[in-house]
Amino acid sequence: MNPYAELLDRADRDLPECGTIAAYTAHRRRGEQPCGPCRTVYNAYAREHTAAEPTRGRSADAARRIALDDHRRQRAELQATLAAEQGQP
Ligand SMILES: [Zn+2]
Repeated sequence: MNPYAELLDRADRDLPECGTIAAYTAHRRRGEQPCGPCRTVYNAYAREHTAAEPTRGRSADAARRIALDDHRRQRAELQATLAAEQGQP
């Protein structure tokens, strides 16, 4: 068997278990509509991913405000940490 055919054959046999991101991706790769469990897991993953990117889909101005707020919050945290390390209030 030629190596490519062997790889394709193996890819067909070793399907990831449904209800995982890997299985969702495999459905899509095969041009299928992902099944219920795969869709559920993927949607949860996508929601988490979007939550980790608060500026996604916002206007440039809104994104700048969000980034600036985040920057100020991190700066305040850092200053508080430094002040605590130096024994200041
Ligand atoms: Zn599935």
